[in-house]
Amino acid sequence: MKICFLGTGSSAGTPVIGCRCSVCSSRDPYNCRSRASILVTQNNVNILVDTGPDFRYQALREGIPGLTAVFYTHFHADHINGIDDLRAFNFLQREIIPCYADPRTAAELEKRFQYCFLPPDPDWTKPALSMKAIEGALEFSGLLVQPVPVMHGNLPIYGYRFNDAAYLTDLKSLPESSLSLLGNLELLILDCLRMEPHPTHLNLEEAVALARRIGARRTLLTHMTHDMDFSSLAGGLPAGIEPAYDGLSVFL
Ligand SMILES: [Zn+2]
Ligand SMILES: [Zn+2]
Ligand SMILES: [Zn+2]
Repeated sequence: MKICFLGTGSSAGTPVIGCRCSVCSSRDPYNCRSRASILVTQNNVNILVDTGPDFRYQALREGIPGLTAVFYTHFHADHINGIDDLRAFNFLQREIIPCYADPRTAAELEKRFQYCFLPPDPDWTKPALSMKAIEGALEFSGLLVQPVPVMHGNLPIYGYRFNDAAYLTDLKSLPESSLSLLGNLELLILDCLRMEPHPTHLNLEEAVALARRIGARRTLLTHMTHDMDFSSLAGGLPAGIEPAYDGLSVFL
C-alpha cells in the first residue's frame, strides 16, 4: 500500500495570501502546503480522501491515473471545494465515481453540489458522483477502509483507517470508543494545526500526546498552518513523529 500526501496544509494553505511572515516567504519547498488530502493506493485501487480547492493541481502533480472511490472526512470548504475536478475522472473512466461519508457530510454534499449527483450527461461533461452515507467498514480488493469517528471541536466527523494506516485530520479530541479502532498501526497521520491551542484542532503539544496514546510505529503530522516552519519542527520532535510534506509518499 502507498499513501501519497497530496496536501498537508490548513484551510488557508501555506503561504497564506498576503502574508509576509518568515514561513510564507521561505524558499524551503517543504514550507509550501496545499490543502490537506491523501491518495491511498493498493494494486489497482486508488482511494482519494477529500477534494480540497487544490485538488486539480495535486492530481496533475502526482499524475493520478484513475479513482476507485472518494472518502470525505467532513464538509468544510478546505476539504470539499475541489469536487468539480472529479469530472476529469468521469471523463477518463466513463463511469460514476462513488463517494462515501458520514451521514451529515453526505447530506451536506448532496445539498451544496446537487448537480454532481444527477444522472450523468451522455458526454460526461459534468461531475457524475454517487454518495453513500456509511457507518462501518468497506473493502476494496483487500484494502479495508474503516471510518474512525473523531471530534472536530463540537462537530463529529470521520477519520479513516486503511489496513495498518490511519488518517485523522481536523480533530480536537478522540472518543474512547475510537481508540480501539487504532490498535497496531504502522502509520498514523495526525492533525497538528499550529503551536498555539485552537478550539477545533490539535496543536503540537496535543498532537504529540495523542500520537503517544495511539502508539503507531510512525506518526506524520498534517493540516499545518504557516506557524509551522518545516525544518525547525522536524528538528524538535520526539522519535517516531515527523512533519509530513506535500508530495511525500509512504510505502507500507
Ligand atoms: Zn480542514
Ligand atoms: Zn505567513
Ligand atoms: Zn475542518
